[in-house]
Amino acid sequence: MNGLAAYLRGIGNRCLSAATALKTTLPYLIGTGERYRAATEEYPDRVSARMPEDLPPRFRGLLRNDIQACSGCRYCADTCPADCIHIETEPGPERNVSWVSVFDIDHARCMFCGLCV
Ligand code: SF4
Ligand code: SF4
Repeated sequence: MNGLAAYLRGIGNRCLSAATALKTTLPYLIGTGERYRAATEEYPDRVSARMPEDLPPRFRGLLRNDIQACSGCRYCADTCPADCIHIETEPGPERNVSWVSVFDIDHARCMFCGLCV
């Protein structure tokens, strides 16, 4: 009899455990109730729909380099944690001045951390 009682108690405990978990997750699943709120967010942010409330006012959403002003120093590439900036330079007409022949940003890898900026 003791074995049966322990067995039934085990089933009861597991049902209670499942019910406790469902109390938390069910509102997310069915999308109703006062506890419901979105738990995930699209990344990168959907700029067109969410810019006013989600993004800081100075957010530009796209990295851009003024190649005329770039000296090819590679500080930005060295800073990038995702290693997504590729720079190639060639010797310029003056000493110690380089021409930037290639400046590529792999936007598929960029996480918009802004460190390069
Ligand atoms: S930090 Fe990058 S963008 Fe700025 S000058 Fe150096 S290489 Fe050019
Ligand atoms: S924003 Fe961050 S990840 Fe993107 S290129 Fe700049 S440093 Fe790299």
